[in-house]
Amino acid sequence: DQELRTLLLSRIHDVPDYPKPGVTFKDITPLLADATAFAALTDAFAGLCREYGATKVVGLEARGFILAAPVAVRAGVGFVPVRKAGKLPGATLGQAYALEYGTAEIELHADALVPGDRVLVIDDVLATGGTAEASLKLIRRAGAEVAGVAVLMELGFLPGRERLAGELAGAPLEAL
Ligand code: 5GP
Repeated sequence: DQELRTLLLSRIHDVPDYPKPGVTFKDITPLLADATAFAALTDAFAGLCREYGATKVVGLEARGFILAAPVAVRAGVGFVPVRKAGKLPGATLGQAYALEYGTAEIELHADALVPGDRVLVIDDVLATGGTAEASLKLIRRAGAEVAGVAVLMELGFLPGRERLAGELAGAPLEAL
């Protein structure tokens, strides 16, 4: 709703020329520091979790962890981290994806999801969609179902939604 959007937008700050010249970074730390805004965001994500019938919430490193963990608690489902390669201690599934320059790889614990799980992926920003797309591939390879993707912000001037469409396969993508 419009009231929630206005509140959230007022707590996201544009930082020019970060991390490099010409890029404007969306800084969510003011939102995290505002108890009312953080609680409203958590409630909205938890509402989607219930609406989609999710049984697990996946958070994408690193800001996705901060947003997804309280959602899991609020919705009464488990939290599962998707991490940058080399960080998880157990047996993992890995997925490489293309960046603007070069590639990156993310990992999921191989036993973190079970067939029958319906997974909601949460992150702060959908930019090119590469990270979210790779996470959906991992979830499917783990034998679980994609319930949807929910982000705080979608950068509408980038084709992230288009890049994600194939891997979403009809599952919802919601940007609050
Ligand atoms: P993508 O893979 O969609 O290009 O990039 C998304 C990832 O980069 C997300 O995990 C997100 O945290 C991070 N990201 C990209 N741009 C921004 C930004 O402007 N602000 C924040 N907070 N994160 C960003």
